[in-house]
Amino acid sequence: MASLPYLPFARPTLDEETINGVAEVLRSGWITSGPQVKKFEAALSDYLSGRPVRVLNSATAALEVALQLCGIGPGDEVITPSQTFFAAPNMIAKVGATPVFVDVELVSRNLDFDAVERAITPRTKAIMPTHFAGLPVDMERLYVIAKRHGLRVIEDAALAIGSSWRGRRIGSFGDLTVFSFHPNKNMTSIEGGALVLNDAAEAREVEVLRFHGITRLPDGTRDVAFPGGKFNLPDVNARIGLGQLARLEEFNTRRRALAADYFRLFPADPPCLLPHPGHPGDEAGHSWNMFAPLLPLERMSMDRQRFRAALEACGIGTGVSYEAAHLTTLFRRHGHHEGELPNTERIARETVTLPLFPTMTRADVERVCAAVGEVLQ
Ligand SMILES: *Cc1c(COP(=O)(O)O)cnc(C)c1O
Repeated sequence: MASLPYLPFARPTLDEETINGVAEVLRSGWITSGPQVKKFEAALSDYLSGRPVRVLNSATAALEVALQLCGIGPGDEVITPSQTFFAAPNMIAKVGATPVFVDVELVSRNLDFDAVERAITPRTKAIMPTHFAGLPVDMERLYVIAKRHGLRVIEDAALAIGSSWRGRRIGSFGDLTVFSFHPNKNMTSIEGGALVLNDAAEAREVEVLRFHGITRLPDGTRDVAFPGGKFNLPDVNARIGLGQLARLEEFNTRRRALAADYFRLFPADPPCLLPHPGHPGDEAGHSWNMFAPLLPLERMSMDRQRFRAALEACGIGTGVSYEAAHLTTLFRRHGHHEGELPNTERIARETVTLPLFPTMTRADVERVCAAVGEVLQ
């Protein structure tokens, strides 16, 4: 075992064409936002049925800008899962609004829409669902609820580029959609994110919000009407994103095959709670950013930390996605506590993310499954 190469839980696939393309950008004399950003935005827009897309330097920035675009601020409530990455609840709090945490379903780990309906108040302005691990939320139910209550939707699709719902890509329909190009996602620009918009007016507003709030005056000088952030994506990163987008379908096909291998080979005893396999009849809509079972802790002789250390000792990296956002110091300060969201808290205790990335082989999956089986015994 010791001679086997280390297997991280995520690894980007960067090809020579992309690396050479980056060198060209570096030699071109224009390295920050410019022609490559325009090309990347056009390519993403093509991929998403022609909807306007603007790129930013992270999905977190895109979430913040999306909230600002919706005019969300103090006194407003935004419904979000707590079983998600910290970025969405953090950005809701950062713009001065209140995150209203709603529990997720245990297996899909996506928002429980019955609970969403119960959480709506006259102050609710938006719903911010996460498509967990690339499994789309029920898009019909989501948009029926949003429409009935006049709410904006900001989809956190950081893990879901290339996912689809009944044959339509996530981001190609709906309200606002955010993607991430962090190295652990299905495609990368090192750091980077995208915001998919409804029309040209929203796209222009994002251009202002992502760059200091600057607008250009007819006399060639500049004005600022809003203290905007500095969230533009450099051309170097956009060039990497272009190389990745060209291979996204190939990457995601590989991810689906590896997830299928996990289901076939996963040790059955003691039983872990395996991830949702994809919506029945629409399994190819899942883009499998991660494979994260829940551990049967009460039947194990060790805790999760020891389990992870034992896999690490076999040269296998693991992750935790996610801790419960409502139980962070930040949101405890706002009165949140244990027992509020049972599924979220159970997932936070038991989840472990196993290696899954396109250049893995079936033998790598076999190795992980064998190691998990041994450690669980
Ligand atoms: C990774 C991730 C983010 C943040 O993406 P960045 O590009 O790193 O800002 C937000 N939400 C979810 C669900 C994520 O997985």
